[in-house]
Amino acid sequence: MNAINKEPARSEDIRALDAEHHLHPFTDTHALNAKGARVIERAEGVYLWDSEGNRIIDGMAGLWCVNIGYGRKELAEAAYTQMNQLPYYNTFFQTTTSPATQLAKELAVLTPGDLNHIFFANSGSEAIDTVIRMVRRYWEVMGKPWRKTLIARNNAYHGSTIGGTSLGGMGAMHNQGGPFLPGIEHIRQPYWYGEADGQSPETFALTCAQALEEKILEVGPDNVAAFVGEPIQGAGGVIVPPEGYWAEIQKICRKYDILLVADEVICGFGRTGNWFGSQTLDIKPDLISMAKGLSSGYQPISAVAVGERVASALIEKGGEFYHGFTYSGHPVAAAVALENLRILREEKIIEQVRDVTGPYLQQQLRERLGNHPLVGHIEGVGLIAGMALAQDKAQHKLFDSNLDVGTICRNHCFANGLIMRACGNRMVLSPPLVITKAEIDEMLDKALLCLDLTVASLKEMGVTLGS
Ligand SMILES: *Cc1c(COP(=O)(O)O)cnc(C)c1O
Repeated sequence: MNAINKEPARSEDIRALDAEHHLHPFTDTHALNAKGARVIERAEGVYLWDSEGNRIIDGMAGLWCVNIGYGRKELAEAAYTQMNQLPYYNTFFQTTTSPATQLAKELAVLTPGDLNHIFFANSGSEAIDTVIRMVRRYWEVMGKPWRKTLIARNNAYHGSTIGGTSLGGMGAMHNQGGPFLPGIEHIRQPYWYGEADGQSPETFALTCAQALEEKILEVGPDNVAAFVGEPIQGAGGVIVPPEGYWAEIQKICRKYDILLVADEVICGFGRTGNWFGSQTLDIKPDLISMAKGLSSGYQPISAVAVGERVASALIEKGGEFYHGFTYSGHPVAAAVALENLRILREEKIIEQVRDVTGPYLQQQLRERLGNHPLVGHIEGVGLIAGMALAQDKAQHKLFDSNLDVGTICRNHCFANGLIMRACGNRMVLSPPLVITKAEIDEMLDKALLCLDLTVASLKEMGVTLGS
C-alpha cells in the first residue's frame, strides 16, 4: 500500500491488510493468516459485534479488563475533555497534573491497609517491572543490597516484558527469547485439582506454601527480596488456592522478613467481589500491581500501590529512584480511570458482583455444567471462574496437552457467539462486571452447547472419553 485508504474498509480488505502487515501478540501468525482474523467492529454492554454482523457475548471482558462493560460514553467524554484541556504532560520535571494526583489519592483510599503511595505505568507488565526494580531498590536503601531474589510460582502470569516473562512461570514463554533475568526463582503452584496427588485441600495448601519456605532456605533467607503472586491465578487457568494457602504464605514471608507483592492486574477492581482480590483472600501485601480493570481497558494505564514500609524507606532515604515512563500518570488515561472508578463506586457494581451476580454465576456454573462429562472441576469466586476439561472425570484423568482440547472448545465457542478462553485444558470465564443474571444464563447456555460440540468433535477424532 502506498496510500492510506480513507474509505471505510470492507472486512475482507481489513483481513488482507492484517495478514500482510500485522504481527499479533501471542499468535501463530502463519496459522492466523491462513484463515484470517475476525474483525470486531463495535460493542455495547457485554456484547461485541463482528464485521459479519454476528453478536458475540464477551465472557472474557476483552482480556479480563472491561469491568464496567462496553459503550460507556462518560469515559469517552472524560477523555475528550481532558484531551482538550491538557492532552499530555509528564510527571518527571517536578510537575504534576490534577488527574494523576486525584487518581493516586483515590487508589490510596481504595487499596487495603497502608498502601498509600502510587507509582504509575501503562501496562501490567510495566507495573511488574516497576515492582522488580522497586523491591530490589528498597533492599539497597535498607543496606542489604544482596537481597535480590524474587520468588514467584510456576504457571503464574506476570506479563510479557523481559521482567514480566522472567517473573512469570509460563514454560512456553521461557522457551523463547531468553536468557531471562537472574535472581528469580519459582515454586510450585497451588493447583489442587491438577497437582494434589490425593492430598486434601487443607494439606495441599500447606504443602504448596511450605515450598516457599524450602526455596527461601535453599536461596538463603538473607538473599530474598520478595514473594510475588496473583491472589487467584488468571492466565494460568483461573486457579483458586485452597483455604489456608495465603495465610501460610504470609506467615512464612513475615518469618523471613520478605516483602509480599500481590499482582492484582486481574483480581483488582471488583473481579472477585471486592475492590481487590487481597480483600477476598485475606492477603496483606506490601505492594500491589494493578492494571486492566483500573480503566476498564478504555485507556492503557497501570499502577503499583506501595505500603508505608517500602514507601517511607524510598522517600526518606532513597534519593532519586531512576525509574519511570514517559506516560507515567498520563492525564488522559488517569481522567478515564477516575471516571471508571466513579462508575464502579456510584453504581455499586462491585457490591452487585459480591452479593448477586458473582454467587449466581458460581452456583449456576456448578449446577448446570458441573455434571457435564467433560467438566472435571470448577473453581472461581465472584465473576471469575475456571474449569478443567477431563478426559475421564471419574478416573480424574486429564487430557493429553497435545490434543489441545481447550482450543477445540474455544473454537466452538467463537463459532457460536461466545468468547470463552482456553488456558491449556482449562476453560475460563471473566465477563464484564455489569453482566446481568439473564446474560449469565445466555452465556452458560452457549457454554453448555459448546461443551457438547466439543464432545462430538472428540468422538469424531476417535478420542475415548470416560462414562
Ligand atoms: C495481564 C496481566 C499482566 C500483564 O499486563 P499487560 O497490561 O498485558 O502488560 C500482569 N499480571 C497479571 C496477573 C496479568 O493478568
